Amino acid sequence: MTALVWLRNDLRLHDNPALHAAAELRQGVIAVYVHCDAYVTRFPIAPSRLDFARRHLHLLTTELARHHIALQVLRVAQVSEIAPALARLARDHGISHCFFNAEYPLDELNRDQQVNQLLRAQGVTVKRCHDRVVIPPGKVRNEAGTPYKVFTPYKRKWLQLASLLPLRPVEAPAHQAALPCPSASAQDIDHLFEGQELRDLSTPWPAGEAVARARLQRFVAQDLDHYQTQRDLPAVAGTSGLSPYLAIGALSPRQALAAVLSRTGGDWNANAGVSTWISELIWREFYQHLVVDYPQVCMHRAMQVHTEAFPWRQAPEDFALWRQGRTGIPIIDAAMRQLNATGWMHNRLRMLVAMFLTKNLQIDWRWGERYFMEQLIDGDFAANNGGWQWSASTGTDAAPYFRIFNPITQSQRFDPRGQFIRLWVPELAGLSDKAIHAPHLAPSGPPPGYPAPMVDLGASRKATIALFASLGQAPAGGSDAADDIPAAPGTGAGPGPHHPG
Ligand SMILES: Cc1cc2nc3c(=O)[nH]c(=O)nc-3n(C[C@H](O)[C@H](O)[C@H](O)COP(=O)(O)OP(=O)(O)OC[C@H]3O[C@@H](n4cnc5c(N)ncnc54)[C@H](O)[C@@H]3O)c2cc1C
Repeated sequence: MTALVWLRNDLRLHDNPALHAAAELRQGVIAVYVHCDAYVTRFPIAPSRLDFARRHLHLLTTELARHHIALQVLRVAQVSEIAPALARLARDHGISHCFFNAEYPLDELNRDQQVNQLLRAQGVTVKRCHDRVVIPPGKVRNEAGTPYKVFTPYKRKWLQLASLLPLRPVEAPAHQAALPCPSASAQDIDHLFEGQELRDLSTPWPAGEAVARARLQRFVAQDLDHYQTQRDLPAVAGTSGLSPYLAIGALSPRQALAAVLSRTGGDWNANAGVSTWISELIWREFYQHLVVDYPQVCMHRAMQVHTEAFPWRQAPEDFALWRQGRTGIPIIDAAMRQLNATGWMHNRLRMLVAMFLTKNLQIDWRWGERYFMEQLIDGDFAANNGGWQWSASTGTDAAPYFRIFNPITQSQRFDPRGQFIRLWVPELAGLSDKAIHAPHLAPSGPPPGYPAPMVDLGASRKATIALFASLGQAPAGGSDAADDIPAAPGTGAGPGPHHPG
């Protein structure tokens, strides 16, 4: 009898609960990775993220083999073929147990349910572990036993619960006596992705859990203490850059948290950098929990039902200018060009470009959500959907619709010398630090080749506020006069308390 572990977005050996549990049976372990073509066509996924998975699998097959765990890879065309393919594998290899780490979006839950049923019907014991989050969904509840809709009380409760947990990452899997079957070769792995668009971004994003752990250690040792003051400055590498590794599961949130707590001797509030970074990990967790508690978000639905009536504009030409970074608003263009070139975008800029698309161009957040997933190497359904719905004021804990970032004042505040803009919009490099944020306002106007703003920021902001107000159920509090989200007390630059970044 052999144990099977089905790997998905958990491509690592260390602190992998499903892999660990399978190895603990000490009866031989086969790991399997299934590539489904329909997933790639039905759900947007960036070619860089596909290639990131391919590169991780290359490393993983060798690492697993060192532990005498064989990696098998399967390619299927349709989602409905996944369960039968795994059932066949289980039959062929005398599998007694199958372990996998939970994935929470609705389609993944349905897929796993099919696998569960088919394997159980054939006598296999199936175990689902929780790995993607520190606290499993359904556990962070308010007094009434219902899910939180607002981040701050969720975070308070989450911290209470997490402080009671051991939070020790599980060990790497035990070495097995012998390889139960040959491991996938490099060609087998490459064959999984044949015919699909791949994009090699290995220079900015080298693969492997060793790289992820080293980046984590470096961030915690060098940058964590300054995180609070640096994290909003896109020209500075002040954030961890760990999102691609967390998204593909080369790193776990427990490992991230454990590294911080080990540095601080268990102090969750050692300084503002520490508590703010932990807060970001909790935002990540909040969004993962939301897709379970509010599964309608997995069906292209707005979290706040009344906002479904917002008359989003069908404006493909404007959408194309946004995608290409040719809006005439330098910080927006720099951000979109960073995304297109590197498969990643700074968090502050994700919020800015998302608000610009939805609030100034009044283009449906779902268009932006999809484009992000098509480009991001860290594409993660829950975080992306949560971020888009937050920015569009359609989501839970949404930014009140009347608070709309002004990209020019944001640019002056967070890229004061225009370094980030100069890097990504070289046609503006010659402008002064003052002019670079709004070249159309400079006496000489924008340099040749750079467009004038595609939209009037003030007028579009007013129009959007009026449209949201007409939807009826405006959030209580706030005022029409509010613009940027206010700074957090004491920071002078940070966001307000309900702000994911
Ligand atoms: C519109 C929009 C779309 C987004 N799409 C994604 C996505 O597809 N995948 C993704 O991982 N993040 C997404 N985010 C969240 C955030 O922008 C990125 O996680 C962050 O920029 C990653 O950089 P970092 O690893 O240096 O983060 P750090 O600042 O170092 O934060 C540490 C980790 O916390 C998590 N995190 C940080 N901020 C957030 C947040 N606001 N929401 C959820 N998790 C967070 C990430 O896993 C991140 O790696 C999105 C945000 C917005 C506004």
